[in-house]
Amino acid sequence: MQKCLACPRGCSVDRERGEIGFCGVTNEYIIGSADLHFWEEPCISGTHGSGAIFFSGCNLRCVFCQNRDISREVAGKKYSEDELVAKMLELEARGAHNINLVTATPYSFFIAKTLEKAKKQGLSVPVLYNCGGYESLEALRALDGLVDIYLPDFKYFNDDLARTYSNAPNYARVAGEALCEMYRQVGKLTLDEKGIAERGLIVRHLVLPACREDSKAVLKYISEILPASEVTLSLMRQYTPDFASENVPKNLKRRLTSFEYEDVLSYALSLGFDGFSQDKESAKKDFTPNFDKNIF
Ligand code: SF4
Repeated sequence: MQKCLACPRGCSVDRERGEIGFCGVTNEYIIGSADLHFWEEPCISGTHGSGAIFFSGCNLRCVFCQNRDISREVAGKKYSEDELVAKMLELEARGAHNINLVTATPYSFFIAKTLEKAKKQGLSVPVLYNCGGYESLEALRALDGLVDIYLPDFKYFNDDLARTYSNAPNYARVAGEALCEMYRQVGKLTLDEKGIAERGLIVRHLVLPACREDSKAVLKYISEILPASEVTLSLMRQYTPDFASENVPKNLKRRLTSFEYEDVLSYALSLGFDGFSQDKESAKKDFTPNFDKNIF
C-alpha cells in the first residue's frame, strides 16, 4: 500500500516502504494475541469461545484504551498471510464459534484477500469484524460478502469529546456512515438455534464518566439513521480508569456511577433498543485479556 487511505485518517504514508501513519503499523500483520476468548457478548462467546485475533496498532488510540499494550505500543508477533489463515483454521478446529477480527482496521485492505484464502481452505464459522467504528466506506465495501457480523463501537457524538479522547473530531459523521454501510451488508442480528450469532450488526457503546448526555446523543443519532428495532445494542459499563493515560481529563480518573449507567440504559430502552447490558462487576482491570499470557 503505497499511499495509505485504509481508514478515514488518510495518512497517505507509504507502508510498503516502512513509513508509519497514525495507527503505527506497516504492511505486515502484527498480532497481539490469538486465542479462544470468553468475554464478549453471550451470542459471540457462546460456550466454546470466540476465536479472537487481536491486531496490533489502532487508528483511534483512545486515551482510556483497555488494550493499550497493543493499540499504542504495537506489540505482538509478525504473521504472514498463510500463518494467519492457519491460525483462523486452528481456532475453528478448537471449537471457536466465530473468527473475531479485533481492531483489524489498519489491515482492512489486505485482510479481504486473507479471508478469501481462509474460506477457500475451509473456514466456515462466521467472520466477525470488531472495530472502533472509525472506518472508511471503501475499506468496508472491500469486506462485503466476507464479513458476517459487524461489531463496531459508536463512541461519541460530540466532536470536542472525539477530538480530546481519540483525536478524531469528525468521528460521529464517519461512524454514522460506516454503520449504515455495515447494516446494508449484514442487516439485523440473527442467531442460530443455540443462541449463537450467525449474521448481523451489534453496536457497542461504552458509557464514560461524566459523559451520559453524549451517550444519549449517540443513541439518539443511531436511532435517527437506522431503525432502533434493527440495531442490537451492547451498552457497556466496563470503563475503568486503570488504563487511562496520565494526563486524561479529571472525569476519566474515576469509575462510572450506577446512576450514570442506568440513566443511559433507561434512555436506550425508551428509544426502542434491545440488546446487552453489563453489570457493575465488569469494570475491573482483569476483565480485559492479558496479552502477555495468551498463546500464539
Ligand atoms: S490505516 Fe493507519 S496509516 Fe492508513 S490511513 Fe489509517 S491510520 Fe493512517
